[in-house]
Amino acid sequence: MAKNDIREFTLNQLEEYLEQKDEKRFRAKQIQEWLWKKSAHSFEQMTNLSLPLRKMLAEDFVINSLKEDLVQESEDGTIKMRFKLFDDNLIEGVLIPSKARVTACVSSQAGCSLDCRFCATGFMKLKRNLFAGEIYDQVVLLTKKSIEAYGQPLANIVFMGMGEPLLNYKNVLAAIDKITSENGLNISAKRITVSTSGIAKLIKKLGDDGVRFELALSLHSANNIKRSKIMPINDSNPIPDLVEALNYFHEKTGNKITFEYILFDGFNDSVQDARELIDLCNKVPAMVNIIEYNTVEGVPYKKSSEKKREAFAGYLEQNGIVVKVRLSRGKDIDAACGQLANK
Ligand code: SAH
Ligand code: SF4
Repeated sequence: MAKNDIREFTLNQLEEYLEQKDEKRFRAKQIQEWLWKKSAHSFEQMTNLSLPLRKMLAEDFVINSLKEDLVQESEDGTIKMRFKLFDDNLIEGVLIPSKARVTACVSSQAGCSLDCRFCATGFMKLKRNLFAGEIYDQVVLLTKKSIEAYGQPLANIVFMGMGEPLLNYKNVLAAIDKITSENGLNISAKRITVSTSGIAKLIKKLGDDGVRFELALSLHSANNIKRSKIMPINDSNPIPDLVEALNYFHEKTGNKITFEYILFDGFNDSVQDARELIDLCNKVPAMVNIIEYNTVEGVPYKKSSEKKREAFAGYLEQNGIVVKVRLSRGKDIDAACGQLANK
């Protein structure tokens, strides 16, 4: 029988296990401190535990940690790290340095089950959900690399790598809990953004769970018919349902909401599209991130011209919308949004 991953055990479960084995319950806290705060990847490292206890743990459990598999650096300074999971699946995380800060982009699943028509991750289908420890490890390893490469830790973490975070709800929240905890990495939840393709029921659940991180919705069109054309998830989660869910989330948490909007040439970049987006922004307290499309092979959509992008952003701004334009980074190493697919 496969051994349990010890990081899947709660403090309580560990205490019970230790008690059964005639060990002291308080050792559970020490073990968890090694597992999370000190991100130990082996039981030998746990030097304040007796040798027999370390041996027993190694007999009964595994620590399914990530292994660095490949590091690629872009000419613009972006670094992509590929990680191997214990079952040989591969996932990717990205470091994006800007003037004064480093943002890490992490994955929540190996692959994705929601085949958005423009996204390379969607094309590779879902392999499996990541465990909380695997999400956590990405942050640990990306932090280490960030300090090595840029001399500074992470300023922001975005769940914009592979996968749909809300379809791995429990593990994503458990990982964020540890990332933000004093007993973990102690990174403020305000520095974390979870990006979702929009699952209304789960957005509401985030509100009920009173999460402290920020939320981004991959909108890409404020027109319900158009959005369904590029994002099949919109059929079961249409824009009116998302509006209701986002307002619920905002009322419950007070947290910021961002609409992500990729501009596709001749598809969603007209004045009419901008007007529909402005109308939507009047229904939800959200700002807009305009994203440059990164070409994916075999996709019929192309990115809009710079001129159109500026006109679109300008029109939103004139209408009082807070807009940021996010130009693509790390394209030469396929590290950009929506290009993560382990070619
Ligand atoms: N599944 C989540 C988070 C991962 S995708 C979501 O869809 O929100 C992160 C962001 O990258 C999303 O806004 C997504 O729409 C965008 N994206 C996907 N493919 C892209 C591409 N080829 N170029 C630019 N952005 C892309
Ligand atoms: Fe999945 Fe997000 Fe890509 Fe859509 S855009 S296929 S939800 S990773």
